[in-house]
Amino acid sequence: MPASRPTSSDPAFIARLTDIRARMAAASQAAGRDPAAAILTAVSKTQPPEAIDAALVAGLRVFGENRVQEAQGRWGGRRAGLPDLELRLIGPLQSNKAEDAVALFDVIETLDRDKLVGALTAAAAKVGRSPRLLVQVNTGEEPQKAGVAPRDADALIARARAEGLTVEGLMAIPPADEEPILHFALLARIAERNGLSVLSMGMSGDFEAAIRLGATHVRIGSALFGERNPLPAPSSL
Ligand SMILES: *Cc1c(COP(=O)(O)O)cnc(C)c1O
Repeated sequence: MPASRPTSSDPAFIARLTDIRARMAAASQAAGRDPAAAILTAVSKTQPPEAIDAALVAGLRVFGENRVQEAQGRWGGRRAGLPDLELRLIGPLQSNKAEDAVALFDVIETLDRDKLVGALTAAAAKVGRSPRLLVQVNTGEEPQKAGVAPRDADALIARARAEGLTVEGLMAIPPADEEPILHFALLARIAERNGLSVLSMGMSGDFEAAIRLGATHVRIGSALFGERNPLPAPSSL
C-alpha cells in the first residue's frame, strides 16, 4: 500500500460532496430517472495531493484528468493501492501520447479524429490494454475546441468500431456562452442513433441540466474541490 494512502477526511470537502450528490439525485428523480443514474467523475486536474486524499477518503473512485503527464505523476504511485480506481482522460490527446494514455487510463473520453483511431489501435496492441472510449463531439462547432463536428460523428464512431475499439459513448463541452441544454440534447440524439449508452456531459455549472437530458457521467471540478489554480495555457484545447 503506498505511503500516500489517505487516512483523514476533510469536512468542507464532505459538505460539498454531499451537496452535489443530493443535487444529482434530485435532478435524476425530476427527470424520472433512477436517483443513481449518473456517476460523478471528480475532475482532479491541478489539485494538490491533500485534495486527492480527501476525495479518496470520501470514497470517490472515478477521476477525470486533462493531461496525460500530469495524471501519470498524480496517479502512477497511487494506483496499486486502489484496485477499484477508474481514471478517465477528459482532455485532448495527442497521437504521440497515445501509448502512455492507453497504459494509464481506463476510459479515454476524447477520441475526436481518424488519426487518433489509428494511434489508439496501435497503442492498445503494443501495450496490451484497451481502454473504453468516448467520442468527443464539438457540438458548438467552435474552431478552438477539440471534438469531431456533429455531422462527422457517425463516421468516426463507425471507423473506431471497425478497428475493434470499444466505443461506449459520447462526451461534449458546450460553448461557455450558450444555453447548454440544446448541446446536451444534440449529444443525446447522436448517441441514440449510434446505439451508445454513455453520455459524459455536464460540469460544475450545468450538471443538473445534463442529468435531466440523460447524462450518465458528470465531470465536476470546482464545485467539488473549490476553485483550481489556473492552468498554464493549454497547447491544443
Ligand atoms: C476542467 C474540466 C471539467 C470540470 O470543470 P468545472 O467547471 O470545474 O466543474 C469538466 N470537463 C472538462 C473536459 C474539463 O476540462
